[in-house]
Amino acid sequence: MIKAYSYIRMSTEQQLKGDSLRRQKELSANYAKLKNWELIESIEGRDLADIGISALHSKNATEGALGTFLTAIKEGRVVTGSVLLVENLDRLSRASALTAFNQFSSILEAGIEIVTLSDKKHYTKESVNSNFSDLFISIGIMFRSNEESEIKSKRLKAAWENKRNAAQQKPITRCRPAWLDYDERSKKFLPLKKRVEIVKLIFEMCISTCGLYGIARYLNESHVPVFGRGKFWHRSYIKKIICNRSVLGEFQPMTTENNIRKYIGESINNYYPQIIKEDTFLLANAALVQRNKADKGRKGKSFSNIFTGLVYCGACGSKMTLKNRGMPPKGGKSLCCTNKQVSAGCMMPEWKLAEFENILFKHLREINFSSLISGEKNPLATLEEQQRVLQEKKNNREMNIERILTTIENEDLIDRAKKELILRMNQYVSECENLSKLIEDSAQKIQQEKDITIYFESVNMNNFLDLSKNKEDDYYTRSAIHQLLVKTIKKITLLQEVEKYPYEYDEDDKEIISFRAKYQFYRNENLSSFVENKDFLRFALPFRRYITVKYTTGEERQIWCGDDTSHLGNWSLGGAYMQYNL
Ligand SMILES: [Zn+2]
Repeated sequence: MIKAYSYIRMSTEQQLKGDSLRRQKELSANYAKLKNWELIESIEGRDLADIGISALHSKNATEGALGTFLTAIKEGRVVTGSVLLVENLDRLSRASALTAFNQFSSILEAGIEIVTLSDKKHYTKESVNSNFSDLFISIGIMFRSNEESEIKSKRLKAAWENKRNAAQQKPITRCRPAWLDYDERSKKFLPLKKRVEIVKLIFEMCISTCGLYGIARYLNESHVPVFGRGKFWHRSYIKKIICNRSVLGEFQPMTTENNIRKYIGESINNYYPQIIKEDTFLLANAALVQRNKADKGRKGKSFSNIFTGLVYCGACGSKMTLKNRGMPPKGGKSLCCTNKQVSAGCMMPEWKLAEFENILFKHLREINFSSLISGEKNPLATLEEQQRVLQEKKNNREMNIERILTTIENEDLIDRAKKELILRMNQYVSECENLSKLIEDSAQKIQQEKDITIYFESVNMNNFLDLSKNKEDDYYTRSAIHQLLVKTIKKITLLQEVEKYPYEYDEDDKEIISFRAKYQFYRNENLSSFVENKDFLRFALPFRRYITVKYTTGEERQIWCGDDTSHLGNWSLGGAYMQYNL
């Protein structure tokens, strides 16, 4: 039976806390069993484990258990054909790659096989000689910090799973939802009465047909204190509460993998005090889903707002988002300040999407949209140039690797020279990997740029508005326009001056002149007789409104909505025009 020596190392206390011993032992035992090897955990009366002995300066190989093992090899007390089991190569050595390499080769030279349990790789003298790039790539990887952190997070996850299995009764973590407190003495979670009442209210409101916005608005208007640090109740936070199973007392352990939060195992029941009945929870969540569906149905699949993410409220700085207010002319799509929607203190009135689009497109046509783009240094050319440079670098590195390989294979080199070369090659290999990634990224960017350019050329800018209008349901077209806008415009801010009092108007004010010019009915009318009338107030609104557009080129333009009155008859006066039959 082949003897499999399991070597374990833990460098710091942290790893001990992190459950390293149990995990490393388990890995070795499982693998030995799988291979039908005899598992050996000690040598010459000494545990094959270095706890608290660092491998950074090879202390484990001189003073530690690994040292004992290496001496035993040297003196022929380990049978040829035995196996050394380690979790990773970094268990053996964390010294420089050169030292690490020496150590590995001395073990392999003695006819001992090394198995790394994390990736199930087998290293023998033969395998390394025939395919040595394999080994130094492995060594290289070992020193790469990102791999390092990945390994660490895997370890943490295992520790967490173990903790969770072991401690079902007492709290694993003091982490708790905002409506609970943790009592240090009794080691129990206690409900915060007032907050529990608020959570109950949220559930009730959700069931009794009030949407997330409605709930947020109600809580803000009634000055219900916010949980946590925020100033106001926001839709997303309320949604989180309604969907959070900890109201039922459940606890779901989570982990973070590649920046994505993930569940680990089943949730634990009766972990927190239950504050919402299951029926209530289910009803509220069902209501949420239904309302969500209704919302989506109304918006349709079209790309409604091609200015998504670009439009901000000038009064408070929040984003303006699209709201559907039902059938035009009274309703229709409007841009609303998100802050105002939840009654969080902003007074910005809604802007009709159609009006906003009209003004903005007119402006975009006038300033010669295409000149703005080409005014920039041609991004496609720059990108392609960058890519050529990267490719050139990569070719160079590959050539170097090839050259080193040939040298090692053909020349009769002394060991030291060989190792130096291997080291250098190792560096080139990792540089190549990085360059490949960069080239891939840049290829993607170039493709995007080309797509946009092709689209841009195919669209006559003068038909821009018509296109987006006619193809209101064409998701592709509208999203392409959106992309184009995002490339050109950094930020659009909507602003409105405070209301003018009737006595502030004068005969030579722009809005008065325009109003008189546009509507004969008022031409000879006394000024004071119409400045208070609704039609005029609606007509005059755009004269107080303006839009600032900041371009990616750094240019900034201001557009006064009242400067252009040619289209007012179509939208601003709307119903009034019909009413007076002008
Ligand atoms: Zn606002």
